[in-house]
Amino acid sequence: MASSHTVLMRLVASAYSIAQKAGTIVRRVIAEGDLGIVEKTCPTDLQTKADRLAQMSICSSLARKFPKLTIIGEEDLPAEEVDQELIEDGQWEEILKQPCPSQYSTIKEEDLVVWVDPLDGTKEYTEGLLDNVTVLIGIAYEGKAIAGVINQPYYNYQNNGKQKLREHRNEAKAGPDAVLGRTIWGVLGLGAFGFQLKEVPAGKHIITTTRSHSNQLVTDCVTAMNPDDVLRVGGAGNKIIQLIEGKASAYVFASPGCKKWDTCAPEVILHAVGGKLTDIHGNALQYNKEVKHMNSAGVLATLRNYDYYASRVPESVKNALVP
Ligand code: AMP
Ligand code: MG
Ligand code: MG
Repeated sequence: MASSHTVLMRLVASAYSIAQKAGTIVRRVIAEGDLGIVEKTCPTDLQTKADRLAQMSICSSLARKFPKLTIIGEEDLPAEEVDQELIEDGQWEEILKQPCPSQYSTIKEEDLVVWVDPLDGTKEYTEGLLDNVTVLIGIAYEGKAIAGVINQPYYNYQNNGKQKLREHRNEAKAGPDAVLGRTIWGVLGLGAFGFQLKEVPAGKHIITTTRSHSNQLVTDCVTAMNPDDVLRVGGAGNKIIQLIEGKASAYVFASPGCKKWDTCAPEVILHAVGGKLTDIHGNALQYNKEVKHMNSAGVLATLRNYDYYASRVPESVKNALVP
């Protein structure tokens, strides 16, 4: 029997369950202890067994259910038969109870592009900063990011700040009465769910930026904004979560390095609650399947007061970052 739900809402409901499954894989690899770290382009650009397994799980699960989708995953992996154990077939029923925004109701599967970051914050993951890590599934239509899912496998994780990675094994746990991990999802025109929206106190300028990929341009740009505080944390997904939960007021990254799979899902969640994410010049990011992967002109994102930050990006920084 044909489903009465739209393709988009079925895809988001499946992506929710698939991102959750990927989150369990990310936790399992830590618990098993062998991260299988591979250097990609340089010592701060890493891939682990969790990146590989999570991508295989996400991309194969999506492709089985939605064979006409274009799926673009971060990791370059050999085409091989994926273990049945990695396939997630579920869909989150709560999402199917929500109405599809009318402008998306006739979208066909073949018109959608899915951007997958199976593990965002890999460098931090290898260092035991587990709460920086997210799984990102972003959905684009006509070049625009319109729906997204973020799983945070170690949400509620209790870290006393002194533990080494090897001490996390088999004992990663939530605090009292708390569940480990959460999933946030959103669709433009419908809203974003799975968290409590919070704002930084009025007048405070708290910038969140990279911890592992900084350079002179990044620090010049942050300094020019005259922040009250600067948070240096891993992950694009993690930084957008800081914006929507009132921990930071702007995500500033004046450098190439971040890719379309880093920004697609987080951008939707931010836009769905009235925020704004652009490159450092103020241009919207494009997500059609032919687009280059690199966000060459950096990232500027805020929940509120976008203009305050945009107006303070130095000309020298803009000149150095060609879109
Ligand atoms: P970060 O804020 O450093 O965690 O970066 C956000 C996302 O962009 C992560 O997925 C990083 O791996 C990626 N990224 C940023 N800069 C670089 C870089 N120079 N090389 C490789 N990946 C980068
Ligand atoms: Mg990433
Ligand atoms: Mg990644």
